[in-house]
Amino acid sequence: MTDVPEKSAILARTIGNELMSNHRRSLTRLPSLPTIAAEILKVFGDSDVRIQKVTDLVQADPAIASKLLKAANSSRYGLRREVADLRLAIMLLGKAKVIPLALSFSLSIDVQESEASASHFQRFWLRSFVQASAGEVLGASYGANVGAECFTISLLAGIGQLGLLNQDADRYIHCVEQAERSDRSLTDVERETYGATHHEISVDMLEHSGLPRRCVDAVNSLLPESSGQHLDEETQRLADVTGVADAFARYLCDKDSGVALVVLQERLVKLNSGETDVDRLTTAIRTKLDESAGLFDIDLSLLPDPDELLEEALDQLADFTEMMHDESRVIPTELVAENGRLKMQVDDLVKQTTTDALTGTANRAFFDRRLKELVHQCRRGEVQMGVAVVDIDHFKTVNDTHGHQAGDYILQQVAQALDGVTRADETLARYGGEEFVVLLEDIATDGMAIVGERIRSRIEKLVISFEGVVIPITVSIGLCCGVPQNGEFGLTLFSHADAALYEAKQGGRNRVVCDTSLSDQSNVCSTPSTQTGTTAAS
Ligand code: GH3
Ligand code: MG
Ligand code: MG
Repeated sequence: MTDVPEKSAILARTIGNELMSNHRRSLTRLPSLPTIAAEILKVFGDSDVRIQKVTDLVQADPAIASKLLKAANSSRYGLRREVADLRLAIMLLGKAKVIPLALSFSLSIDVQESEASASHFQRFWLRSFVQASAGEVLGASYGANVGAECFTISLLAGIGQLGLLNQDADRYIHCVEQAERSDRSLTDVERETYGATHHEISVDMLEHSGLPRRCVDAVNSLLPESSGQHLDEETQRLADVTGVADAFARYLCDKDSGVALVVLQERLVKLNSGETDVDRLTTAIRTKLDESAGLFDIDLSLLPDPDELLEEALDQLADFTEMMHDESRVIPTELVAENGRLKMQVDDLVKQTTTDALTGTANRAFFDRRLKELVHQCRRGEVQMGVAVVDIDHFKTVNDTHGHQAGDYILQQVAQALDGVTRADETLARYGGEEFVVLLEDIATDGMAIVGERIRSRIEKLVISFEGVVIPITVSIGLCCGVPQNGEFGLTLFSHADAALYEAKQGGRNRVVCDTSLSDQSNVCSTPSTQTGTTAAS
């Protein structure tokens, strides 16, 4: 086995003598790669390797051989006809696909065999696989072989963690748990315990593994001290993809989703692959993961729901944005590093993910969050809250008659008018299509009809002219209010308001229907004046 101080180029490079002796005390040898994985890596860099050699390697392990055959016949790799012969399957798939596949199987088998600390191994494997799939999706836009190479690089980028789990399980799990329980990053705790991070150990483990130089350099590029290092164009591209895949896995699997989201966004822009939308990227990677889960023994149920994840990330960022004004608080280095620029990015990101691009009003995600918060707040204070759902009448006909551009322009004008007619404590959002919602805080039961009529008459009076043609617009509105009785009250309130809207449409449109079935009947200020087109449901 290799002694760390002598053989570990990265460790020697990155840590000072003092830490080195600490490291010498704490980790006496460099973790090794699982045997079959090490063998596979040796052939990885050899472009002349004969297919027979690859077949021999795979055949040496019946579990890997059977998984590879299953993969060849799966929808993910879909060979044109069913193949029962391993050698033929390997030939048809080609080395570029077989090597990363065999490597993943060898690692997943290693993970399954470790009984102790199974959940830590499972999480490691899930995270590595998420990272590998992200690398594959992003790399594939430069060609299938680049995709396969990026898959392998990203699969191996965290291999140091598997090494530490295999070699020093108790102490390493203690590290992970310590980082989870505290504000400290895993990297900090690892450095304190081992004098090196698992990323540094990964580079060391791969350094003489046979993995091509450009791939090792790409893994190395994840280390902070490697930034600014000159790489040739091909390696730089691999490094950029690896960086995005790393940030994506951090976003999806680690606790600091807020910072990870900023880093991910920044690296995506730098990658310049044409994809800068985190939502779309997440969907593409999820699809790839869904296709692969069964083949690679991945438990996708451990991954967070995408909407909840984004919400959590934005909450964390909102906290940081506040903390930036408070010098006594500790802000993650990534956000402080280039304070001004990243602060702007955080603001942009919060804006981007909470605003509707066409109309500039808040979007549905923002509304859903605010609704939940308000339910919580009003439930505690036993205060009545309400929702108004506003839907443009016959909008499809408007689009069909005047064109989609006119439709877009009308949506902007209606949003602007709604904004003008809602008060500061009323949250306006575009819920989707031609439907807007207004969240009403501390509303009296009879106040609903007043708010509804204020909105309805404002839109009716709006003069919208597009390319010289005046297009009259009306809206139908459904409202409901009540004091929240449980955490799910937002959904109940919304579905009642939506049903009232349906009634307004059925009643002839351009009207307001208030559902008072959930309302506090004693919470009535005055009898509302009779209003055009307003009816009340109960
Ligand atoms: P109703 O009075 O019953 O609400 O009828 P409607 O035609 O407004 O409702 P429907 O749900 O049948 O059609 C909604 C239309 O809104 C269809 C869709 O093309 C249009 N729409 C949705 N989003 C946009 C958008 O962003 N821009 C434009 N121009 N049109 C949109
Ligand atoms: Mg409509
Ligand atoms: Mg609609």
